[in-house]
Amino acid sequence: MLEGMTEANCIFCKIANGEIPTEIIFQSEQILAFNDIAPEAAIHALIIPKKHFRDVADLTTQDKTLAAELLAAATELAEQLTDGNFKLQFNTGAEAGQTIFHVHAHLLSNSPRKLT
Ligand code: 5GP
Ligand code: ZN
Repeated sequence: MLEGMTEANCIFCKIANGEIPTEIIFQSEQILAFNDIAPEAAIHALIIPKKHFRDVADLTTQDKTLAAELLAAATELAEQLTDGNFKLQFNTGAEAGQTIFHVHAHLLSNSPRKLT
């Protein structure tokens, strides 16, 4: 995946606009969440703003309200899916492992919420 990727050829923009069908696990006006195609934990979801930002640094610089909304959505999803033990991760920059240059939070957990 090219680091210079823009909205035109961005896979997460295509998921957000429905061009690539994906099972949605959470949706609001501005936020979308879906399961990672290659899960690295029992729970591995990706939470994105529908609008394109390159990474979490760009998002936070350009729209703090949306950044807060992304964090709130990720945390709410974590509360629904896990027992409270989870990681939220933003890979930022190719050398830090970012491969898709549309900001996304990884929600990772091996502690699924127990059904009561
Ligand atoms: P990054 O390495 O950029 O932090 O994370 C990108 C993540 O997106 C990876 O964990 C990868 O498995 C996931 N991914 C890549 N392409 C797709 C896709 O088409 N659908 C879904 N659901 N996940 C994807
Ligand atoms: Zn995008």
